[in-house]
Amino acid sequence: MEKPAICGGTPVRTSKLSYGKQYIDDNDINAVVEVLKSDYVTCGPMVAKLEQKICEVTGAKYAVAVSNGTAALHLACMAIGIQEGDEVITTPITFAASANCALYCGAKPVFADINPDTYNISPASIEEHITPATKAVVAVDFTGQAVELDEIRAICRKHNLTLIEDAAHSIGTKYNGQPVGSIADMTTFSFHPVKTVTGGEGGAITTNDEALYQKLLRLRAHGVTRNLDDMVNKNDSPWYYEQVELGYNYRITDFQCALVASQLEKLPAFSKRRSEIVARYNEAFADIPEIIVQKEIPASDTTRHLYIIQLELSRLNCTRRDFFDALCAENVYPQVHYLPVYYHSYYEKLGYQKGLCPVAERLYERILSIPLYYKLSDEDVDDVIHAIKKLITYYKK
Ligand SMILES: *Cc1c(COP(=O)(O)O)cnc(C)c1O
Repeated sequence: MEKPAICGGTPVRTSKLSYGKQYIDDNDINAVVEVLKSDYVTCGPMVAKLEQKICEVTGAKYAVAVSNGTAALHLACMAIGIQEGDEVITTPITFAASANCALYCGAKPVFADINPDTYNISPASIEEHITPATKAVVAVDFTGQAVELDEIRAICRKHNLTLIEDAAHSIGTKYNGQPVGSIADMTTFSFHPVKTVTGGEGGAITTNDEALYQKLLRLRAHGVTRNLDDMVNKNDSPWYYEQVELGYNYRITDFQCALVASQLEKLPAFSKRRSEIVARYNEAFADIPEIIVQKEIPASDTTRHLYIIQLELSRLNCTRRDFFDALCAENVYPQVHYLPVYYHSYYEKLGYQKGLCPVAERLYERILSIPLYYKLSDEDVDDVIHAIKKLITYYKK
């Protein structure tokens, strides 16, 4: 048996691998430089160009590019008038922003439990948590796999709720052949560097609804309008603009838009490589009973953002923490996605208690995200597999 590095053995590799990493090539850099040399570094033509490109990729009618994915979620909630007294249902297995967007509007996030196999929000649990105060569902395509959109859309229609799809993980994913971004009432994206496509920071909202689109445009820029029809004090002076509601400055710069647009050209290549890596991992872990992999639903043609292994701890003589530390010692640096949102002390102070979503809580105790990104070579992937197999052999009962 090979000795784990944490017990004094030799690490499987000498250089560190992280769970995610952006890929930026010379075309991306040139696209940014071109904008920096132009007349507009913000509020210029690249914003609309990126929005057009996002519409092409997602099949949505409208796209609004914003400063980040959190701003996208906030504006989506604002656009439908979420306010104090309202409830918004989401999953606990997500980045906190998926729930914070409700708090920003004074509303209450309500956590529905997940499906134990796909790790996505469970449609049945959504339905159980609907009350007369429920206004929207924020459904997260966790790891890039689409949520069960048909079921969730039917529930939303039945109860007159808005479906906001948090697609921070899932750009490039298709659901029953239709790209994510054109299916929910609004879909939000993030272009943070760990996501599949990056702008440094950046985000977007897509929708097929023209009224929501106009509202989102206005909220992105302070709630200001230059359109006479929308003004209270009708004034057609050339300098005049009017703030008609409280919006934000959630604009994105033109050079970030150039980077995202250039990255989107590579999305098919990104998706393909990520799928290849997922297939290699799936194959390697298929007959290891100590490792459970995420179930894939046939409806989702997934561009995978994260690869998660679930440790079958009852078969192992170690804790998740032991396994995490041992993997780091092999120079393979995992992460955990995610701490259930309501475990954060801020949410505890709001009165959320452990026990709300038992399936999510159990999953959280057992998961690790292992390296998955475009530039990972086959040798890197083999090293990750080697390290995991070595530790499983060492720790298994
Ligand atoms: C990254 C992420 C966000 C927030 O995006 P930012 O661009 O970092 O603000 C929201 N939801 C999920 C699921 C995310 O992973």
